[in-house]
Formats: sequence, C-alpha cells, structure tokens
Amino acid sequence: MRAANPVVLEVPGGAGSAAFLVCWAGHGSAELLGYTARVAGGPSFLAVSPATPQATRVLPVNHRPVACTIAERAEIITSLAGPGFDADTARRAGIPVVVADAQGTLGAAPGIAEFAVDLVQAAGLGQLALVTEIVLDDGAGPHGLDDLATRRALVRVTGQEIIAERLRTQALAVRGPEVVLPTDHGLVLATGYRDPHTGAEHLVLRGPATERSARPVVHVHRECPTGDLFSSLSCSCRSELDAALVDIAGSRSGIVMYLRGKPGRPLHHGPHLDDRQAHLLAFMLQDLSVPRIQLHRSDPQQRAALTARGIPY
Ligand SMILES: [Zn+2]
Repeated sequence: MRAANPVVLEVPGGAGSAAFLVCWAGHGSAELLGYTARVAGGPSFLAVSPATPQATRVLPVNHRPVACTIAERAEIITSLAGPGFDADTARRAGIPVVVADAQGTLGAAPGIAEFAVDLVQAAGLGQLALVTEIVLDDGAGPHGLDDLATRRALVRVTGQEIIAERLRTQALAVRGPEVVLPTDHGLVLATGYRDPHTGAEHLVLRGPATERSARPVVHVHRECPTGDLFSSLSCSCRSELDAALVDIAGSRSGIVMYLRGKPGRPLHHGPHLDDRQAHLLAFMLQDLSVPRIQLHRSDPQQRAALTARGIPY
C-alpha cells in the first residue's frame, strides 16, 4: 500500500462483493477525508484490532455524538492511530468503531473489519484502519468500480489476496512436544502441532532417519475416525495410513502428515486438500526444516502452497 493513498478493497459480501476505500487511520488528514467522502460516497468507520489496548471499550448506549467539523474529525482519527487509541473518543465524535475478530481474515467468517485491519497490518502501518464504503451511482453499470479505480489511479486489493498473503507468510500452527513412538511397524518420531485459529491438533510422523534423506516422501493423511480407529471398510483410510506407516518406519525415512479437524469436528473427505490445509502442511514442513520433498500423491493446492513457502517437491 502506498503511503497515504487509500486502496480499493473488494471483499465477498452478501450479494457478490462489496468495495471499500481503506487506509491507515494515521493518514486520515482532512484532505484525505474529503477525498474519500467524494470518491466513495458511503459511510465511514474505524476498524481496529482487538489487540489494541482500549479497543473494546464501549460507551453507554444513550450517549450523543458531539458535532464536529471535518478538520476536527481528521484530528481525532489521526490521533487515535497512535499508541493512545480509545474507542470512546471516536464514538463521542460520532465515528463508529468496529472491533475486528482476533483471528482476522483467518477466522471463521471474516468481514470488512478483519480485511481492513489485516491490510494495514500487512503494510506495517499499525492496527487501525479507516474504512469508507464505495457507493456507486445507479448509472455506473457493471464496470463502475473499474472505471472509478482507473480514473483515480487507485490500487485494488481483493480479500482473497489478503488471505493468500497471510497463509503464505504466517505461522499457521504452534509446534508442540516431540516423542519417539513405537508402532507395529517400528519407531517413528511424532511431533504435535496446534492450529491457534481452529484449535485443531495435527501430528507429523517421521521415520528416524528422515533428516538424512535428501528428498523424503510425504504422505498426507486426513483424520477419519471410523477408518483410522475402527478399521471401517467403507473407506480405504486405515489401509492407506498403515501403508504409509510401514513405508516410513520400514525405510526409516519419510513423513506422514496426519491432519485433523477442529475439536469434535472431523475433516470432510474431499478429493483434494483445501487451500488452508495445503498451506498448513507447507508451513509444518518449513517449520521442521525439511528442505525438499516428494509428494506421495500430488495435488494442485499442495504444489501451490509448497511453492509459496519455497519448498521444492
Ligand atoms: Zn475414511
């Protein structure tokens, strides 16, 4: 994000997508507020990370906002972007404050507040975003937003791009203890990981000589309680898991990534990993310093996530 220039942020909304002008609140000068009001035309609010002290203070419902000029509003908004943020100060001046979810865009149902806060944070600017909804004229037609962005030379960012950037760069799980696990097939090293966003706990099993292998084979297994625990024959999960364990324990090299769902909610079995699972997998391999791998079974999402984390496969 270029300094002081708001960007057009398009996020999935109720009917298709909605567009907003977003900038760091510290850039909210009177000129920028005037520009934003003219270009966007919709209501403005501040979106703040819950990690900001005083973010969740709420005025009593019967307060009356004090009327203030655009210059006074700008002064309040820019002053709040500093360390002394106080949601009540904004609300007293009639500036709505929305507190984003702590998980941001990696949470369950991210909305504009989460996207806006993640955007200013990704730009290294802080935790307070000034957001103004873009309301196009009825006559603007389907290309109204394209025309507006081109005419004003505005940079456009989509919600998907913000999520992709977080998935590519963030720590997606926290490494837990490592134990040596004796199995029917031999010894394996088991490392636990916890996904702080979902609470899901995953397991990485490695043959004891994996570190000395130039290109260990990676088997991905998604938890299947009926197959894994009860050897149900309605799917091939248990036999696949056994075959993978035989492979890594027998060859003393190779990795089984055992991905699990949220507590109490097993994963859905689709043909491919979803984007988030693929990135989680790539993150754990990166965290374990596995320099390059072979995928036992290839999948486009996995290949994209491994490439994004710089792991050759
Ligand atoms: Zn199964």
